[in-house]
Amino acid sequence: MNWPPLRDALVGEEPYGAPQIDVPVQLNTNENPYGPSAAAAADIAEAVRRAALDLNRYPDREAVELRGALAAYLNGDGGQGLGVDEVWAANGSNEVMLQLLQAFGGPGRRALSFAPTYSMYPEYARDSLTEWVAGRREDDFSLDLEAARAKVLEVQPAVVLLPSPNNPTGTALPPEAVSMLCEAAGNGIVVIDEAYSEFRREGVPSALEVLGEHRNLVVTRTMSKAFALAGARLGYLAARPEVVDALRVVRLPYHLSAVTQATALAALRHAPELLGKVAELRAERDLTVTWLREQGLTVADSDANFVLFGTFADRHAVWQGMVERGVLIRETGPQGWLRVSIGTPQEMKAFKDALVAVMEENR
Ligand code: PMP
Repeated sequence: MNWPPLRDALVGEEPYGAPQIDVPVQLNTNENPYGPSAAAAADIAEAVRRAALDLNRYPDREAVELRGALAAYLNGDGGQGLGVDEVWAANGSNEVMLQLLQAFGGPGRRALSFAPTYSMYPEYARDSLTEWVAGRREDDFSLDLEAARAKVLEVQPAVVLLPSPNNPTGTALPPEAVSMLCEAAGNGIVVIDEAYSEFRREGVPSALEVLGEHRNLVVTRTMSKAFALAGARLGYLAARPEVVDALRVVRLPYHLSAVTQATALAALRHAPELLGKVAELRAERDLTVTWLREQGLTVADSDANFVLFGTFADRHAVWQGMVERGVLIRETGPQGWLRVSIGTPQEMKAFKDALVAVMEENR
């Protein structure tokens, strides 16, 4: 008899584990390398101090003020007049998506995505007792829309999870994909995971623009990436009010702490500053793609703040060689590929110097 008495689906499973190694250049979890200014940090601290005076009380269970502020932010980035009842928030978009699976997945239901994609999706399915189905992407990591439509019609998923831009490849969906998938999914919920949306290139639309046209469309976002607030754990979504109401059924009581709500609200007041480096990071990303191609590597087009490149006969050796030179990147994606998050110009110089040396060594 196994001890502890895990259910079968969990036996031998490893916990999520992007390595947290203490090296000088951290380019492995797609964070924004620029932290808040002293003024923004002081404002956040003051908001938390005020919240601390009421910590004997539970927080606002519905996080109404925060959801209102998030709706206002989204209305400036593709949202079309979203209100409080169309926005939901939780501890990271990871929790938002798990809640979606808890509400709309479950025994006898399927969740569908297209691999390679975000490694947590199968875990949300496993943890909500939903059957996981992975379709495939093309060799350039794009989605063949006709094949994707056929897959949706075949699988009849209760939930489709699709990031745009995709992690770990950086690939964004073409504009027509969202509406096509929403129509194919019928009553199934289509989640467009826009964790990296603020980094998209000029002319790439947000799925928020067509939210009004599809009652089964859900768009998730996070403050962890462009917003430079990964440590606060705040993710959110926009959807029809009835979809938001369904999540209120499965959320734990008072899931979003008063400290988190105060932090996120104060951060939103500093949105222009916190998002102020996005243009620079985009430019640095494009330079990184060009540089990697100049080294003779294959590089996926990226609309995100990371770049997938390869291929290496022994990618682990390359990853390890980089760590030894003080640069932490991510061993993820299909065999032979590696992913680097976009850091400051100094960090990207360290990355390039280390990669040249490691490639020389592994030639
Ligand atoms: N979606 C994608 C595609 C991601 O890459 C990540 C984080 N790596 C998340 C969602 C979750 O981020 P968070 O929980 O910090 O919002």
